[in-house]
Amino acid sequence: MLPRRRLELPPTAGLPLRWSDLRPGRATLVADLATQLGTPPLQLECSGTASLLITLKTLHRRQPHRPTVVVPAYTCPLVAIAVRQAGLQLQLCDLRRGHYDMDAAALRRVCDERTLAIIPTHLGGRVADVADAVSVARNIGAYVIEDAAQALGARRDGSSVGLLGDVGFFSLAAGKGLSIYEGGLLLTRDPLLREQLAHMSASLICDRPGWEARRSLELLGYAALYRPAGLRLAYGNPLRRALRRHDPVSAVGDDFPLRIPLHRVGHWRRAIGAHAAARLPAFIAHLSIQARQRLRRLRQIDGIQVLDDPPGGSGTWPFLMLLLPDESRRDRALAQLWQAGLGVSRLFIHALPDYDYLADIVPPEAVPHARDFAARSLTVSNSPWVTEADFETICGVLEATVG
Ligand SMILES: *Cc1c(COP(=O)(O)O)cnc(C)c1O
Repeated sequence: MLPRRRLELPPTAGLPLRWSDLRPGRATLVADLATQLGTPPLQLECSGTASLLITLKTLHRRQPHRPTVVVPAYTCPLVAIAVRQAGLQLQLCDLRRGHYDMDAAALRRVCDERTLAIIPTHLGGRVADVADAVSVARNIGAYVIEDAAQALGARRDGSSVGLLGDVGFFSLAAGKGLSIYEGGLLLTRDPLLREQLAHMSASLICDRPGWEARRSLELLGYAALYRPAGLRLAYGNPLRRALRRHDPVSAVGDDFPLRIPLHRVGHWRRAIGAHAAARLPAFIAHLSIQARQRLRRLRQIDGIQVLDDPPGGSGTWPFLMLLLPDESRRDRALAQLWQAGLGVSRLFIHALPDYDYLADIVPPEAVPHARDFAARSLTVSNSPWVTEADFETICGVLEATVG
């Protein structure tokens, strides 16, 4: 194992907050982001998961005889939890081998007249194949929801992701680009659907001052500790404790509660988000340049596959997603790197059927490509705090492991 450092690098490139972001101000976050992204009006909710839940309930009200939701078998457990909380059933779709997109043939096999929605996912800021999901959905009369939780600012052919499907959602959770600790944004080009989403939110969501107070304190803690000198306490030490217990699921924070809270986002957090959002375009541009350089370096290592965007896609780069040749070499690389404070980690630990705590929610299906993705992947933070020297250290370990 590499020696542990005093400074701890974050596993994803979140936009760091400044103390001046905490000043009171106008709560223009939602309008500012819509202008920045060039989208129709956005709808703010208390999390990405809450945004998905509201979407599912809205669509199910339109098509009550359709109970199933098709999701990639390798995605965030919160997606499965939202489907359950909406009273719907999960249908898994296996991935393309060695890729984050759903497999085209598998997608056609699992979709039918019971399908309410298909959820293509812009995993790790990479631009997903939404067009294929749209063509399948059109044939059967289902909807497409773009999970862009990790992809705020990603574009395809110049437009924001989230607009090709019927609805898209972004996450403003800690560590996911722009953060107000927890938050989510909904997006649709269809004015009627936009009205129905707003209506569902108005009828379902209340002010819950206790939750908003908690999130405000958490956001203060995030502002204080989201820097290399603070992350050891907030991120590195809990990670290492969980790994010592052989509990990778809690190490990466995959152990979510089975019911998500629903409440309104307060004025102060929206003002903080508005202040920070002004720096987002330059931050994303910087990350993209850094990612391009580092992808080139990683591609020189034989045996490592780096996931990139399709033609026309220009994603965000919170981290670089890599596939190693097999699980044992991936695990050997992680044995050196995961606890080193260098920002190397894993995305989701398992394919959805392999989380014990989701056994009542996720059907036990054979999804070999999703399992393979979970077994061979690792992530390298694209935070600006990862220096060239840090990155070279990581590449050195990868070369020694794969070679
Ligand atoms: C984080 C995440 C979500 C949920 O977003 P929250 O804001 O954390 O509720 C959904 N899908 C994916 C792919 C995610 O990474």
